[in-house]
Amino acid sequence: MPAPTESRGGEALALARELAPRFAERAAAHDERGRFPEADFAELRAAGLTGLMVPARLGGFGASFAEYAAVAAALARGAGSTALIFNMHASVTGALAQTPEHLVRALGAPESFFAARDKALEAAAGGALYAVAMSERGGGSRLSKTTTAYRRSGDGFRITGAKAFVSGSGHADAYLVTARDTESEEPLVSHFLVPAGAGVRVEETWDSLGMRATGSHDVHFDAEVGPDALLGGVEGLALLLAEAMPQWLVASYAAVYTGVARAAVDAACDHVRGRGLDGLAPVRARIGRAEAAVAAAELVVAEAARRIDADPGEDATNRWVWRAKLTAGDTAFQVASSLLEAAGTGASRRGHPLERLYRDARCGALQPATSDVCADWLGAAALGGDPDRDTAVPRW
Ligand SMILES: Cc1cc2nc3c(=O)[nH]c(=O)nc-3n(C[C@H](O)[C@H](O)[C@H](O)COP(=O)(O)OP(=O)(O)OC[C@H]3O[C@@H](n4cnc5c(N)ncnc54)[C@H](O)[C@@H]3O)c2cc1C
Repeated sequence: MPAPTESRGGEALALARELAPRFAERAAAHDERGRFPEADFAELRAAGLTGLMVPARLGGFGASFAEYAAVAAALARGAGSTALIFNMHASVTGALAQTPEHLVRALGAPESFFAARDKALEAAAGGALYAVAMSERGGGSRLSKTTTAYRRSGDGFRITGAKAFVSGSGHADAYLVTARDTESEEPLVSHFLVPAGAGVRVEETWDSLGMRATGSHDVHFDAEVGPDALLGGVEGLALLLAEAMPQWLVASYAAVYTGVARAAVDAACDHVRGRGLDGLAPVRARIGRAEAAVAAAELVVAEAARRIDADPGEDATNRWVWRAKLTAGDTAFQVASSLLEAAGTGASRRGHPLERLYRDARCGALQPATSDVCADWLGAAALGGDPDRDTAVPRW
């Protein structure tokens, strides 16, 4: 799909760059307490950025994927956790706004879906925050392992199950939940938008190595929802969309982790200058290698994003999507690790920006698709196979 013509993506990027230094000032406190960054989200809402992906006709910025990627990287340069929660929200609103209408209609979506979609997008432009509840303990983010179930109830659905690692949980207005149909022979997995409140319980379990302020707790669902909660208006779309247009599942994190990697270069330069280490050639060489690696990863993400906007769902586009996730995830932790060594033990103290960035950067390769899964997918493609099918276990 071509980039929306009414986009105010440039304005959004300027706002993100303005907010990022304030996020950076608060990041250490949020990280230490493992708390949701409320002040950051108050500012994102005030700037209207929860409406980044919402079309202009519904009150948003109407950003393209490339504009999202630039905003996410700018926010992550300030605070990785804030940018990661924002990424989950952008994935929900971006997929809703950018999945082509003709495709959804061809799949059988009823007219009522479009009204429900616009209502959810309008709410986002007004400040509503959405989280993604896909992963489960034991099965990770693999759709084929989904145990959270749904069944028809009245004219809607009842959703029952437990999700894990839900960034922004307890602070989101609604959750995108993946759930499996218990009444069908087929392993149908569908997306639902489940409002916070009755039938949704957060269990505070998140106390992890990195991205601590994402508050990615377990969430338990036993919720009744109306028919409009079924995203796309059709059951069983989750796998189809994951394979056909993987950008919001695979590549949206990439921008966040290039931002974290760029922040590590910034922090290393500050530290090295402050300690008078900038005359040491081995230290400078590590900074030089890191800077070049981050610039290369930024270019890979930008190329993937450009193709997502120009030719979404094309084979060549999807190959860049997987390259972007692999390159950004691996670059972030390699760069942060090398820079910590260049900066020395003082930078490994709790509360030093490089110490936090080292931990945050380690998470990129773990998020789906993991770096190992991306590399296997790309290897299968390079060998001339079908990377979605040539696999011992399902990709999703
Ligand atoms: C900071 C952070 C925030 C997160 N936020 C969210 C969120 O908001 N919402 C959400 O739903 N999830 C979220 N997650 C969860 C995350 O995105 C993954 O789904 C989860 O980490 C996967 O679970 P796992 O690592 O336990 O297991 P797995 O993904 O099962 O990985 C375990 C091992 O199996 C390998 N593996 C996995 N799949 C395959 C495959 N198909 N083929 C071969 N090997 C495979 C992996 O490479 C890895 O080595 C978050 C994770 C992190 C780190």
